Amino acid sequence: MHNPPLPELTVADPEIASLVEAEAARQHGSIRLIASENYVSTAVLEASGSVLTNKYSEGYIGRRYYEGQQLIDPIEALAVDRAKALFGVEHANVQPYSGSPANLAVYLAFAQPGDTIMGLALPMGGHLTHGWSVSATGRWFRSVRYGVRADTGRIDLDEVRDLARAERPKVIFCGGTAIPRTIDFPAFAEIAREVDAVLVADIAHIAGLIAGGAHPSPVGHASVISTTTHKTLRGPRGAMLMSDAEHAAALDKAVFPGLQGGPHNHTTAAIAVALREASTPSFREYAQAVVANARALAEALVERGFDLVTGGTDNHLILIDLTSKNIGGKPAAKALDAAGIELNYNAVPFDKRKPFDPSGIRLGTAAITTRGLTTAHMPLLAGWIDDVVKAAGADDTATIERVRAQVTELVGGFPMPGFA
Ligand SMILES: *Cc1c(COP(=O)(O)O)cnc(C)c1O
Repeated sequence: MHNPPLPELTVADPEIASLVEAEAARQHGSIRLIASENYVSTAVLEASGSVLTNKYSEGYIGRRYYEGQQLIDPIEALAVDRAKALFGVEHANVQPYSGSPANLAVYLAFAQPGDTIMGLALPMGGHLTHGWSVSATGRWFRSVRYGVRADTGRIDLDEVRDLARAERPKVIFCGGTAIPRTIDFPAFAEIAREVDAVLVADIAHIAGLIAGGAHPSPVGHASVISTTTHKTLRGPRGAMLMSDAEHAAALDKAVFPGLQGGPHNHTTAAIAVALREASTPSFREYAQAVVANARALAEALVERGFDLVTGGTDNHLILIDLTSKNIGGKPAAKALDAAGIELNYNAVPFDKRKPFDPSGIRLGTAAITTRGLTTAHMPLLAGWIDDVVKAAGADDTATIERVRAQVTELVGGFPMPGFA
């Protein structure tokens, strides 16, 4: 059952209640390897389901446009102070609705329409909002994109430097959605300094690893840090912008009134709760365990002949190129989902297939580590992934059903917050 329980919802709207209940059971019953997903604590769920959703609070602490902020101000102040303390930044804004609007606010703060901006190309592991063509950020700005090296799969910092020198972007984004390796923030900072660009570290995927000391921090290198709060950081759906004091006022003005109206106070409270959780010693252990699990899973996959982009991982994320397995990412992901192993199909660098039917799958260990799986489980997982990918190519439903049963048995032993 969903936890907290939903008795009122079950009476008021049985259709929605039963779908929410079924989703809780589905989440509990599968192995969640989607790299951007996690499970929030019941405390975070309670805060995000609270009456704070009723309140409008346009403006900032002590400077609001609506009355009745006696308790909202201290809630937002706790979130801001905890973000500043956890990441060691001079300024934090916890109001962006999600990662994409947070990035839009960054552009609004530091670029004009038509200005040159620079980011990692989407098919190379970047995010849509780093200037990809279909995104507003690629349509309203002159976006130039760097990539990764064909031989190593890693970001080519020489290419980044050459491109930055030639194009003189106003804003440079580093970070992305399918980068299995450590981001070299000092090197990006040197390039940004040379061309007088604002360096933005988008740490949406790795914020929890940074908070837990399992990935180097961009603080002191990137003037602006953008992050979601719901990936490795294990908070509610939301985002934060952090910066040095110099860039603070421009960011605040861009978020409100530049881009948004009232902040989502229930989300702000849940972010505060998640940040408190992330500042504990057990979260540091969690972050280290996420990386240890990813390393162990990567090794076990390599042993089974999988071709990993960059050959392995430094963080929570693994990108597999299935070309040598003679199957596309989409049929593989669908077969794995049928077997109770949830992940997503994903383009790999220099992909020869189409974006809707790419060559890769992307995995992450943030959620399974929250669930309590350890490095000892990773060879088992790699074996199931191998079996199902082979079965998918051979139309072997018996194997998929066998793995589905084994997955059900395994996850039954690992409680999920939000489900009792
Ligand atoms: C997830 C992600 C985002 C966008 O976050 P949403 O909350 O989905 O809008 C932005 N940048 C990066 C690098 C991401 O991984």
